Amino acid sequence: MTVRLYDSKSQELTDLVPLVPGQVGIYVCGPTVQSSPHIGHLRSALVYDQWRRWLSYRGFRVTLVRNVTDIDDKILAAASSDEEWWAHAYRYELEFTAGYNRLGILPPTYEPRATASIGQMQELIQRLIKGGKAYPATDDSGDVYFDTGSWPQYGALTRQKLADMAPATDADPRGKRDPRDFALWKGHKPTEPASASWPSPWGAGRPGWHIECSAMAARYLGDRFDIHGGGLDLRFPHHENELAQSTAAGDRFATYWVHNGLVNVGGQKMSKSLGNSIYAAEFLELARPLVVRYYLGSAHYRSTIDYHDGALIEAEAALERIEVFLNRAERRLADTRFDGGALQEVPAEFAEAMDDDLAIPQAMAVLHERVRAGNAALDDEDLGAVATLRGEVLAMTDVLGINPMAVEWQTASNDVTSKALSALVEKLLEDRDAARKEKDFASADRIRDELTAAGIQIEDGTGGSHWSLASD
Ligand SMILES: [Zn+2]
Repeated sequence: MTVRLYDSKSQELTDLVPLVPGQVGIYVCGPTVQSSPHIGHLRSALVYDQWRRWLSYRGFRVTLVRNVTDIDDKILAAASSDEEWWAHAYRYELEFTAGYNRLGILPPTYEPRATASIGQMQELIQRLIKGGKAYPATDDSGDVYFDTGSWPQYGALTRQKLADMAPATDADPRGKRDPRDFALWKGHKPTEPASASWPSPWGAGRPGWHIECSAMAARYLGDRFDIHGGGLDLRFPHHENELAQSTAAGDRFATYWVHNGLVNVGGQKMSKSLGNSIYAAEFLELARPLVVRYYLGSAHYRSTIDYHDGALIEAEAALERIEVFLNRAERRLADTRFDGGALQEVPAEFAEAMDDDLAIPQAMAVLHERVRAGNAALDDEDLGAVATLRGEVLAMTDVLGINPMAVEWQTASNDVTSKALSALVEKLLEDRDAARKEKDFASADRIRDELTAAGIQIEDGTGGSHWSLASD
């Protein structure tokens, strides 16, 4: 068994050979928590959740680090007199976490905030300056820049030549030797809050975005680690700059680079200016979280997802086929000698697809083929086959994080439970109505009290009685 992945630096499919046998370290660029997450953010986190689950299934001990960029120009710009920049960042960090949780994305092994590694960032910058790869600006700005001209490998990740590159736009060009040099440290500006600056050998200031990831990756995974991941939109300049800084400072950095595709809407990139962004919270209103996970997680991780109206309905229908089979099989196998659970191993064709650069569309095809075969076996009353197929379907959906029977999906969104509850409550409400019509108010009140005691609120309106679960 060998897992292969597409290394976007060498631009080829390659065998994953971890630095330490049996262990895989992954660093993924997390969000800049300046505003609400959109579905592209969810997809990116989901992709690395899928990698992690598969590598764990394959027996690797996976360390997944996904950072939170909690200091940035945009965060500072969004702060107000009512809300400090750090409170603003934290508010959005919670929104991201809520979105990830609802999709069943496992928390990373560690989730460092950039502001907690300022010392490591400064140490890295010092090393670069000492090695002649970075310089403090000659004006009194307090900025420090990476000297792109001093590092011949600059451009290696995205195969660009320095001469063809556009100027870096991440800082004012003041004090730069070359417009393509990018900021490692940004001197404090009087317009920015004092709380957004840290003392440094170059004066008070804050880190540039790129240095944050270089420092955090090395801090939590070592100067050399296996996989660096992130969205395709981060390849340049962010990842190129990370690679340049870390290797110029003497770190060996990531062995492999993995980039996930983006999510478009109606054929267009989501952008604030087009106003076509779909935010995680509103998307999760459109369908059950499990359906959203199924939808965002069934494309190949490197492909672009183009969201269109009706896509969630298609995902719901596909997922329902799995659910219907699992429910049918569970009912039929109950109290028989075939009453088993998930198998230890997924089918070989499924595993082959997953080993091949996480080819989830092909893996999904195996899953649905097993569902069809399972339904046929049910029709044929071949219970031995039903049990095996059910076990395979459970094993495959488990590893993809979409097992409808798993406890994480068994909350309020569980159709089977909520249908059963609904049937019972509706019946009791009918009994209560009948009692009231017969002026048997004692019975009507008793039913209402029993429902209330069970945590069910009743509202009597002109159109009849409505019920809901009491909120606490
Ligand atoms: Zn990053």
